[in-house]
Amino acid sequence: MDRKRTDVLVVGAGIAGLAAALKADRQGADVTLVTKASRPEAASTWWAQGGIAVTRDDPDQFAQDILEASAGTADPDAVETLVTEADDAVRDILVDTLGVEFDTNGDGFDYGKEAAHDEPRILHVDAATGKHIHVPFLNYITDETDVEMLDDTAALELIRHEGRVYGVMIEQDGEWAPIFAGATVLATGGIGALYPRSTNPDGATGDGIAMAALAGADVADMEYVQFHPTAVHTEEGTFLVSEAVRGEGGILRNGDGDRFMPEYHADAELAPRDVVARAVKAERAETGEVVLDVSPIEFESEFPDLTAKCNDHGVSLPEIPVAPAEHFLCGGIDVDRDGQSSLDRLFAVGECACTGVHGANRLASTSLLEGLVWGRRAGDAATGHAVERIEAPELLDRDPALPDTFAREKFHRLRRVMDEQVGIERSPEGLSRSQAVLRRLKGEVDAYVRTRTSRPLYELRSAAIVSLLIARAASERDESVGCHYLVDQADALVSD
Ligand SMILES: Cc1cc2nc3c(=O)[nH]c(=O)nc-3n(C[C@H](O)[C@H](O)[C@H](O)COP(=O)(O)OP(=O)(O)OC[C@H]3O[C@@H](n4cnc5c(N)ncnc54)[C@H](O)[C@@H]3O)c2cc1C
Repeated sequence: MDRKRTDVLVVGAGIAGLAAALKADRQGADVTLVTKASRPEAASTWWAQGGIAVTRDDPDQFAQDILEASAGTADPDAVETLVTEADDAVRDILVDTLGVEFDTNGDGFDYGKEAAHDEPRILHVDAATGKHIHVPFLNYITDETDVEMLDDTAALELIRHEGRVYGVMIEQDGEWAPIFAGATVLATGGIGALYPRSTNPDGATGDGIAMAALAGADVADMEYVQFHPTAVHTEEGTFLVSEAVRGEGGILRNGDGDRFMPEYHADAELAPRDVVARAVKAERAETGEVVLDVSPIEFESEFPDLTAKCNDHGVSLPEIPVAPAEHFLCGGIDVDRDGQSSLDRLFAVGECACTGVHGANRLASTSLLEGLVWGRRAGDAATGHAVERIEAPELLDRDPALPDTFAREKFHRLRRVMDEQVGIERSPEGLSRSQAVLRRLKGEVDAYVRTRTSRPLYELRSAAIVSLLIARAASERDESVGCHYLVDQADALVSD
């Protein structure tokens, strides 16, 4: 593979990376965008359902809702940036540039309402908003800009020296080479692959966070892993039933057929996600199952996409069996208002970044928006830096390749630990035991990475590093807040 240089290197082609690439291209920079995906569905952006929140006429109330959902832990300055720029970013990129046709009613946009939002303010396309944004965005970047997009191309490691990042080692078709860049923007998305049940696509192994942490960048709020309360798990896989369904009147019932959410929170089904997720877990443990009863709403006509998903997965209506699943990481690479990390020339945007907007708990439908707003800001700030070459790290591949089963087995062990000890409920004992297991696992993987280079091995290393960062941050937070919830005793022993 040829060595390459570029003004701005963006890693990841979800909404955040695409927004950063678009902005840098508009500024006249030579932009290269690499993504390990080879199809749109490999990004969480494609899967987004409920929609994207906007301020309408009341930015103060929107900010208030975000702060309340975060249990007062979100950074007010970051929240102000988000709500101030929300409507302009959505209009500029999604409406004027991409021509996304959000649902309307007789009065204009058909704003949706979701849990913990004070008013309807969510733009959506059916309950399949993500793909209606992502596909036109990918097409626009490919067809209408000068951005060079390399798919099926994975970033493995940052090229760095003394607190500055010079580019990235990338892998394509089993070969690797450096790309040197004036600035690098990480937009690698979430961490769902660390848990056995997640709404994220499989490739969400936390690569950007791991690469940045290894290079010495600060990370923040890693303990705040959000679990979505209403995922459906079948043999065909996992899919999400958007909060919008509860927003429209869907009711959660336990195995005895009883509605239970009013006993847990005054806002019942529309309580913050962490509260609903723990309630669903508890009721499932006590009564065997929890269903989302959609009989009070016109489900099939209001949510045709979800109706089709239920059919495909053999789920019969109106009672959809649901359980919590890992959904979103509130923390990540610590960045400022421009997406600048603690390392020179390294930016991070989207789910892999911690802007401070979400604090300990994310308000529904603010993640696409955060990716858009910070993507634009970082794309701008990353422009204008000179490209310099330094000696690239040597990645070795001198030992025989590992069998496919290797990564599978290690992932299995890692996910079990994360599920049992670093999941919806945690205990100090469990968190300390989990770190011991994860440290051992990371040590094993590190030993293999020293003499072998492959995408699955690097993904496993990313997962091990990020799992440890989460477990360590969780063990340092000794009180429950937002989606970090402590119980006294570990429910289960970690088996090695
Ligand atoms: C089922 C579901 C429903 C959701 N619904 C909503 C919603 O309604 N509203 C909302 O606001 N949010 C929603 N979210 C959350 C939101 O979709 C994500 O947080 C957001 O899309 C993340 O965008 P991103 O650009 O940061 O990452 P992603 O969209 O996940 O993109 C990450 C990109 O990085 C690439 N990548 C990763 N590692 C590497 C590497 N090493 N090298 C090269 N490329 C790499 C991936 O291939 C991918 O292209 C939902 C999430 C899910 C999973």
